[in-house]
Amino acid sequence: MGRSDFSADAPANPPAAIKRLGQNFLIDPNIVRKIVALADITSNDDVLEIGPGRGVLTDALCKTAGRVTAVEIDPRLHDYLAERQAEWPNLTLVLEDALVYPVESLPVGTIVVANLPYYISTPLLFRLLDQRDRFPRLVLMLQNEVADRLVAKPGSSDYGVLSVMAQYAAEITKAFRVSAQCFRPRPEVGSAVVLLRTRSQRELSPEEEPKFAALVKAAFAHRRKTLVNSLKDEGYDQSRIIGALERLTLSPSVRAETLSLEQLIQLTRGIRSPA
Ligand code: SAM
Repeated sequence: MGRSDFSADAPANPPAAIKRLGQNFLIDPNIVRKIVALADITSNDDVLEIGPGRGVLTDALCKTAGRVTAVEIDPRLHDYLAERQAEWPNLTLVLEDALVYPVESLPVGTIVVANLPYYISTPLLFRLLDQRDRFPRLVLMLQNEVADRLVAKPGSSDYGVLSVMAQYAAEITKAFRVSAQCFRPRPEVGSAVVLLRTRSQRELSPEEEPKFAALVKAAFAHRRKTLVNSLKDEGYDQSRIIGALERLTLSPSVRAETLSLEQLIQLTRGIRSPA
């Protein structure tokens, strides 16, 4: 597929990009091909695409997957794509904000593939990970900086709440970076594609998971402070924190950013949340 025939079937005069909706459209067929290959889609699969835009990725997904649901917030783009509906009999186009679209209505086993609108990439990611029992994998284009935080390991300055919560839900690989030249208009930030393989086993019970989320947030709330002081400032009982750290053979002067996912899970079990 050469660049010239990349959008041969697209109607002329697509709607102009709206910056506040994160509309940076992919124009490089190689990147589209790499994203679809990474998603490892078969003709039996259901796919969810968020923000189909002008349809470059949608077209490749419809040619590969069994069924594609594409959720777009911009009515102009929705109508533009609807003009091509006959070409894509396996596409369900939805005009809706992906932050409210009921992803829980999608079939279990749905693969998520998206060049996400960056202004809401983190809340969207967590919404999808909340429903991870439904999504075996997600292939997402994100800001490079967010991709780095997603894969960050303890001790790195990128390691924080996003890393811990996402790595609790999925095994994450940063697959490749994407140059700004591959988009129109060009984004002002770097981009990267990540693969998230969701974990089928939940290590914490449904009662423990909110406690874990609260603890992780509190632990990283004051990055310059020790873990004990950060948690204390967020209302946790100091003696309980110190006791839990001792049982984990961790120093009372440890900082949150040095703790592994497993240690944060153990700590959740070792201390009680603030009242
Ligand atoms: N998939 C297309 C591509 O790769 O060229 C477009 C990607 S563009 C980065 C993000 C798309 O998400 C735009 O089409 C934008 O209108 C859409 N979008 C922005 N906010 C959205 C939301 N809350 N819900 C659904 N789609 C949204």
